[in-house]
Amino acid sequence: MNILMTSFTRSHGMPHVPKFSCAMYAPQGYDYPRISWTLIGREDGSDWIRPRNFIGLADPLTAYKAALWARYDEREKVARIWCDMMAGNAAIAFCCWCPHDRAAQRQMGEHGSYICHTDVLGQWIEERLGVRVWYDDERRLMKHIP
Ligand SMILES: [Zn+2]
Repeated sequence: MNILMTSFTRSHGMPHVPKFSCAMYAPQGYDYPRISWTLIGREDGSDWIRPRNFIGLADPLTAYKAALWARYDEREKVARIWCDMMAGNAAIAFCCWCPHDRAAQRQMGEHGSYICHTDVLGQWIEERLGVRVWYDDERRLMKHIP
């Protein structure tokens, strides 16, 4: 199984791929199942880990990644079970708003790139779960957090 990171907007182009939401909430009109272990917050909607929480630190992006990575680590067992369950699919898509939401559009305007949790999530999935992750071509402009 491969996981494709894409946006809700782009997900229309892949009719035969099972689609899931890795966003805290979905744009109106989308009912993809939300996968709780991929979220930046808690399942109850609280405690989001966002880059803005780390502004002012010496290395905000590294701190952001470390916090998100630690949260995913808490969920490793659940994530592994879920991926095993999905293994019969050639590919599945994880959908996020970016870069079609206002925050990403603003970042693109200011910096030419945007930050999205699917960068960290994808790295984590490959490293911890050994599942291959692909990114749609709009994610070329996603800032890679080393
Ligand atoms: Zn995103």
